[in-house]
Amino acid sequence: MRIDVLTSGIWQTTSTIIEVDGACLVIDPAYFPRELEAIAAHTAELGRIEAVVFTHGHWDHVMGHTAFDAPVWVSQTLEHSIITGHPRAAKYLEDARDFDSRWYVPRPRGHAWPLARRALADEEHLALGRELIRVLQLPGHSPDGLGLVAGDTLLVGDYLSPCEIPFVDNLDAYLVTLRRLIEVIEHGVREVIPGHGPRLTRAEAVAIARADLAYLERLLADGDAPLPRAADVIGMRDHHLENLAKLRSG
Ligand SMILES: [Zn+2]
Repeated sequence: MRIDVLTSGIWQTTSTIIEVDGACLVIDPAYFPRELEAIAAHTAELGRIEAVVFTHGHWDHVMGHTAFDAPVWVSQTLEHSIITGHPRAAKYLEDARDFDSRWYVPRPRGHAWPLARRALADEEHLALGRELIRVLQLPGHSPDGLGLVAGDTLLVGDYLSPCEIPFVDNLDAYLVTLRRLIEVIEHGVREVIPGHGPRLTRAEAVAIARADLAYLERLLADGDAPLPRAADVIGMRDHHLENLAKLRSG
């Protein structure tokens, strides 16, 4: 198994290629057209593409599928949002449209969900070459989060980023997901690939998970808490205030 990570110029967003026996999964290809061309070219060098996978529905993770002629695998929750026309699914696309318009990013094939999709269930195992990839449902940052365990590597989407604090959609779910991730990491994971930022060792990932747990538990207990990291990043305090608002709205 070979796992390569390419990093976007925006928010250190990661695009991961998992290759086994010439079969490739491409996870969250992002974001700008020339970056997508590079990811597609690198994938073609490694083998044939089996599928694109979205770790969740947020706009910065779901625009790259048009660069690939392959089905897209998503969580059951995201699939449900798409087929029922849930406002959340519409907003994800609207956010991408808004960003691309603001920064003149060409998106010749438009802003749309892929038509060929497969919904993945929690603890499903996906065959890739001779390997099995384990699927984890990871709600909390968004309802539709999905993680993958490939060999001794864990892909977590927008959890455990060294670049940002937790962005909370549902606090209870976020706490459950963090505890589950710690459990998974401590049982055989050597490396963690977050959706934003560099690849992490097991120790680095667990340290981030514990710091995030402490931050969220203190939010719950005291109604406020110091940021666990990235306090000097512009806008991070606003994310913290959004977390507080989420807490108050239940
Ligand atoms: Zn996200």
